[in-house]
Amino acid sequence: MSIWHVEPINDLIAHEDNDCICGPTVEHVPTPDGDSWLYTHHSLDGRELKEKAQ
Ligand SMILES: [Zn+2]
Repeated sequence: MSIWHVEPINDLIAHEDNDCICGPTVEHVPTPDGDSWLYTHHSLDGRELKEKAQ
């Protein structure tokens, strides 16, 4: 089993692998080697809202 973390670069907070305060979205990713989990962390500085507006 593998766990991957995708985190915003230069974010205002330090992201943690476990119990991150940003509430990462977890996706199940099946691979030939078994189950993997992709944690997508969220920026807390409003960057995502900006990206959606563009
Ligand atoms: Zn995070």
